[in-house]
Amino acid sequence: MKNAKIRLYVNHPLGAAQSVPLDRDQAHYLFGVMRLSVGAQVSLFNGRDGEWRAEVVQAGKRAGVLVCQEQTKPLQMPPDLWVLFAPIKKARTDFIVEKATEMGAARIVPVQTDFTNSERIRQDRLQAHAVEAAEQCGGTYVPEVSDLQKLDRLLADWPEDRNIMFCDEAEVGSAQRLGAASGDKWAILIGPEGGFSEAERTCLHAHPQAHVVALGPRILRADTAVVAALTVWQQALGDWR
Ligand code: SAH
Repeated sequence: MKNAKIRLYVNHPLGAAQSVPLDRDQAHYLFGVMRLSVGAQVSLFNGRDGEWRAEVVQAGKRAGVLVCQEQTKPLQMPPDLWVLFAPIKKARTDFIVEKATEMGAARIVPVQTDFTNSERIRQDRLQAHAVEAAEQCGGTYVPEVSDLQKLDRLLADWPEDRNIMFCDEAEVGSAQRLGAASGDKWAILIGPEGGFSEAERTCLHAHPQAHVVALGPRILRADTAVVAALTVWQQALGDWR
């Protein structure tokens, strides 16, 4: 297993000859689960210093140390895109965080809307999902998952230079598209299973930065809508171009 292509996120600086201590869970994963031993190679990234090939120099049950050898990828930042979504059932919320990370979101913001089903989220668990998704998809960046925020407050204090791709189910089948929209800073907004309230819709249609978009002629589930919206946005304005 010397050249196993295991990717691991670490919260530690990475650089030439830099040694990186492992915490208990990481040591358990590498040496207990994956059965690596001294001399094995692992790819490390920390969201800041790109990806590094590192070698195991100490392997214990509860701890271990790796030493960085060479940089194998520079830091690749995603576009400056936030994904705002209303948390739904646990497994579907996990799916949204995983897919948003894979699809290249820079920040993931769970929002409480008028019809949001869930009033609490486990931010730490969702952040761990984003880390896992970044490990798996070859990314060198991990989007920050925010705590649950109230949509009305977020909109009241919205940064002037950030556009909103407002995916409005009331526009299902209409011709509303991103069109000639431009700008580097964006947020995609997807509602909960119950959709947006009329008050939210009125506010968003009047919002100077909001671009109202229809995602085709069918109503999508929120988790599908997140992936569809990311695809449309990445293709039109993001790093798929
Ligand atoms: N219960 C609502 C649907 C909510 S779908 C109804 O029947 O009207 C969940 C979210 O996905 C919506 O709030 C919207 O943001 C997005 N969505 C789903 N289908 C869409 C479509 N065809 N166009 C735009 N947004 C859509």
